[in-house]
Amino acid sequence: MANVRLEGIKRRFNNVSAIEDISFEVPDGQFWVLVGPSGCGKSTVLRTIAGLESATEGNLYIGDVLVNNIPARHRDVAMVFQNYALYPHMTVAENIAFGLQMRKVEAKIIRERVQVVAQSLALEHLLDRKPKQLSGGQQQRVALGRAIARQPQVFLLDEPLSNLDAQLRDDTRVELKQLHQKLGITTIYVTHDQTEAMTLGDRIVVLERGRIQQIGAPGSIYAKPANRMVATFLGNPAMNIMPATYRPKSFQVGEQYIECPIAVREKLQPQEGQKFNLGIRSENMYINTTDNDVETLYTTSLQVIANVIEPLGRETLIRSEIADLGVQINVQADRNIQAHSGDRISLALDLDQLFVFDSNTGIRLY
Ligand code: ATP
Repeated sequence: MANVRLEGIKRRFNNVSAIEDISFEVPDGQFWVLVGPSGCGKSTVLRTIAGLESATEGNLYIGDVLVNNIPARHRDVAMVFQNYALYPHMTVAENIAFGLQMRKVEAKIIRERVQVVAQSLALEHLLDRKPKQLSGGQQQRVALGRAIARQPQVFLLDEPLSNLDAQLRDDTRVELKQLHQKLGITTIYVTHDQTEAMTLGDRIVVLERGRIQQIGAPGSIYAKPANRMVATFLGNPAMNIMPATYRPKSFQVGEQYIECPIAVREKLQPQEGQKFNLGIRSENMYINTTDNDVETLYTTSLQVIANVIEPLGRETLIRSEIADLGVQINVQADRNIQAHSGDRISLALDLDQLFVFDSNTGIRLY
């Protein structure tokens, strides 16, 4: 097992930069997730660690050994891809054993290892089947098994769940987490799915346009996003963002006014007319009705018009907008809410949970 350290890694393709100055260190045994929108460079980072791409600049260490010039097959890492690419003519057992056979491992050890791997991935009853006789989830487990059997120092997983349907994806995600808890192999996992990032990672590295936006534990990134991109990328539904202009003691949002909390005023010392973007998560807004008292709890309210009502089972998501701005606001409401498209809704805001972003740079100021 090993730590993985990237120092100032850059990769250009024909002078176009795919990743810029990527530095982080994954401690031995941890599970880190690289997450970001399509094209942000996460696969390039992973492929560079695997040795499938070479960095234009920077140093890469695995287990404190500089591996810049060590070819992929000697790096002792195992990579699992989105399209699991099993050998169709081989059985599950043969597929799992393949990497070991290539390394000329003794037959008896191979048999034992295939058994152990099959057991830990619940594949024992499938060992004699061919890939086409398996479901997508089972095939993906075989691909993982093939990687595990090699007992690599590091696991690299590139969107391994994205070909699975929703239920299987959830189940396999949980299995992956359990597997990591059991094996403790250093793992770096690439996804564009914020749920996978939040649930799997000891740490999350958020990337955009080839640059690291933030590194941290899921909970702390969610609570203290470094900027607007991170704030809106992590969390479902995405954080609501509203353009605002500072007026004495308040933020003007379209034709409405939201009180500026004293703590925000003290920290930012805003100037009259200064522009900001305000952020608030859907779980920190409450619908004012005549028979509840949220208005007395939270004094600031925001008027919106409901657009689309989405019953999600446990709750109802109301996608609404601030009428004069056309800014979308997502509200989590009680599952029994009686709301219709076109309704005017009054929202009480928990201003203790308000975020303030620089309107130009997107950096979180509060
Ligand atoms: P996705 O989630 O869509 O797979 P990603 O975040 O993994 O995206 P990368 O595949 O790492 O992104 O690509 C990062 C950038 O580098 C993209 O702009 C991509 O077009 C570019 N890129 C990647 N590989 C090459 C290549 N071989 N030649 C030229 N450009 C490339």
